[in-house]
Amino acid sequence: MTRSPIITVSRGRFSSTATQVLEQVRAAGRASRDEIAAATGLSIATVGRTAALLVERGLLRERPDLARPGVTGRPGVPVEIDTDHYVTIGVHVGRRIATVALGDLTGRVLASQTVRRPLGTEPDLEQLSREAATLLGSHPGRVPLAAGLVAPWREIGLVPTEREAELHELTGLPVRTGDHISAVAAAEFLHRRDNRRDSHRESQGDSHRAGHPDRAADAGGLTLYLYARDTFGWSVAVDRGVQTDVTRAASLAHFPTGADVPCPCGRSGCLAAAIDVLPDVERARTLGATAGSVRDMLSPDQVVLVGQAFTGDPGLLDVIVAAYEAHSALERPVPVSFTRFGSDIQAISACTVALGPVLDDPLACVEADGACRRRRGA
Ligand SMILES: [Zn+2]
Repeated sequence: MTRSPIITVSRGRFSSTATQVLEQVRAAGRASRDEIAAATGLSIATVGRTAALLVERGLLRERPDLARPGVTGRPGVPVEIDTDHYVTIGVHVGRRIATVALGDLTGRVLASQTVRRPLGTEPDLEQLSREAATLLGSHPGRVPLAAGLVAPWREIGLVPTEREAELHELTGLPVRTGDHISAVAAAEFLHRRDNRRDSHRESQGDSHRAGHPDRAADAGGLTLYLYARDTFGWSVAVDRGVQTDVTRAASLAHFPTGADVPCPCGRSGCLAAAIDVLPDVERARTLGATAGSVRDMLSPDQVVLVGQAFTGDPGLLDVIVAAYEAHSALERPVPVSFTRFGSDIQAISACTVALGPVLDDPLACVEADGACRRRRGA
């Protein structure tokens, strides 16, 4: 039994000023120094000093072309994440395929490569590191800062800490690990804000909401993510006021649905087995009812349904919501929303986890980078 690593998705006011400024700019997309000060509670002088340092180190860049008219000097010049210089390396190990990706410091995927791997074999991290080096080679001038390693650890019988050490040894980078479903939840959390900010929608988390549209995203508290695609499970994001972590990940593959369908485990009606064979509408009802049952057990503040089994057929979203709402013994309604990721979900989730070491300590990461590069270049 391995413990699933916690993924921190928001660090808040007890983190370093560099982290607070970087997270605020990342969340807002672009912000002036006075806007950052207002949002973080830091003084304008502190924000000014920190932003200058982050600009100097290539983590942020200024956009004087977008300065508000009438505001003179630095405070009115917006800054944004510098996406041209540093990258993260995301590695996702699945049961049949492994994915290596380069992500920028906003978590967007720049390039990715998928390799098949024989079922049941050990992941070849050495080969995956070479794939990462090839991707870096096709992006000259990009400097890697950290790596993220994501897998359905329990399902493939691997211990995250062992692989984390191995990937660190191979790349010289700080490595963060995440469980597959927790990493998908973290990516949803990170990119949802992008979606609401950008009017256009891309494959990086295309949202559809039922019930209370925008409240679901920002209400804080406990967010329950249910994932149904190649695997079935749930994870929760816990907002502790100053920090939000995605913790726990549990499988729903053998969740009892009551369907009369035999499962390889010997019982009948297990979710994964039922989803495989049930006709469309019945499958949608079963997924909605399962989401409702898990909601009642955990009593979250909002629920987000992620993965193609939930979102694959837009015509069935209403059926899922109706079953979700009908199967509740809770007194208050819990808003539910859908997020659809494209086929690049492995790359996106691994690159999201890879941002961890950078956001934990941005300045240490770029300082360490020089030493890492010298060692690797030797
Ligand atoms: Zn079963």
